[in-house]
Amino acid sequence: MKVYKFGGASVRNADGVRNLRHIVDGEENLFIIVSAMGKTTNALERVFAHMQNGEKEAANEEIKEIQAYHASIIEELWGEPTEINEVTLLFGQLKTIVNDIKYRKADAELWYDTIVAFGELISTTIISKYLNHTGLRNRWIDMRTTFVTNQRHKDANVDIKASTLRLKASLENTGVDVFVGQGFIGGAPDGTTTTLGREGSDYSAAVVAHILDAESMSVWKDVDGVLNADPKIFKDAVKIDALNYLDTIELAYSGAQIIHPKTIKPLQNKNIPLYVRPFGDKTKPGTVINGSTPRVTMPILIYKRDQVLLIIRSKDFSFVMEEKFAVIFSLLERFRIKTHLINNSAVDLGLCVDASWHIEDLIKALEAEEFEVELHDNVGLLTIRNYNDDLYTRYVRQQKHIVRQVNPESVRVVLREANF
Ligand code: ASP
Ligand code: MG
Repeated sequence: MKVYKFGGASVRNADGVRNLRHIVDGEENLFIIVSAMGKTTNALERVFAHMQNGEKEAANEEIKEIQAYHASIIEELWGEPTEINEVTLLFGQLKTIVNDIKYRKADAELWYDTIVAFGELISTTIISKYLNHTGLRNRWIDMRTTFVTNQRHKDANVDIKASTLRLKASLENTGVDVFVGQGFIGGAPDGTTTTLGREGSDYSAAVVAHILDAESMSVWKDVDGVLNADPKIFKDAVKIDALNYLDTIELAYSGAQIIHPKTIKPLQNKNIPLYVRPFGDKTKPGTVINGSTPRVTMPILIYKRDQVLLIIRSKDFSFVMEEKFAVIFSLLERFRIKTHLINNSAVDLGLCVDASWHIEDLIKALEAEEFEVELHDNVGLLTIRNYNDDLYTRYVRQQKHIVRQVNPESVRVVLREANF
């Protein structure tokens, strides 16, 4: 069995879906994991935000646009306006949730998951139907009932043991050997839908690969492979031919948009190679990630946007030490806030975290625990691995930064405005 994962960008329009069809042509024993089409997850996040604010009309408007977007892709794929009953049904369910549920703030994460999961449910339905329509027989798999996750909305982990039987059973006696399942989603023990964290489809594919002892997993992307920098920010980015699991985890953790950080562990445990391959040309080798590649030595630049820097102090100026760390980190955990850099002194703790709707709640909760919080929003986090003098001067010394962490191998800075 092989596992292929297609992200939202690769299936953002009809051409993308046709290209997926071309890539999987002739494959047998294949499990395909697909994300929501294009920017659908962001649009669904807006639907949820409208629900949070009691703005039903705006939510329905947004749903209409999402539906029109998918209808146009279907029309182009089938060559005429075509109604796919399952897709109509999914939109019906989404509308019912938005219009009929009595929203309570205490259930915010539950409703968030329930709503954003529709992106993947819709994309996989269209793609599975299209593959069947074009002669590639396959089975649509509902990952909400296949992946058992923990009871933690918006950032769930898959319970591999509990999911193994279900996944294997769902492939049996189907008469086909190609399967299409949603990335990013699963089901909690109480039967509600969970999501695995933004960009979590890579992780879904890795768990499928792990459970099915896949010979390999491939992620099809709109780049030639893993690059040593984001070419939109740093020119002269070059492709890295091979990486080991550990380097990849570190790069992903620093914010490189190669792969979701949770992806590597399930693969590493079974020594399954991961290929990052260009969507536009299936003959190109891309980048291979495995256990045997030596550590990477070329410089790597990662710039993570949409960050917030929080500087936390005790109101009484006492040291911010272990027991206080415990309080702070349990609040971060509760509000699903991901920390990317920690910088502490005797009296304060600096945290660079992802911007999210939970930041306000976190600050309130910290203040209730007698902390004072200084907030710097709209900051970016730059990490340079294997830096040299030239890079250090250009990207660290000559930039306005609020925090700087220098190690022999890497330097990390929080920047107010990036000037490169
Ligand atoms: N559709 C989800 C997102 O945009 C999951 C993914 O793309 O991996 O975050
Ligand atoms: Mg995506």
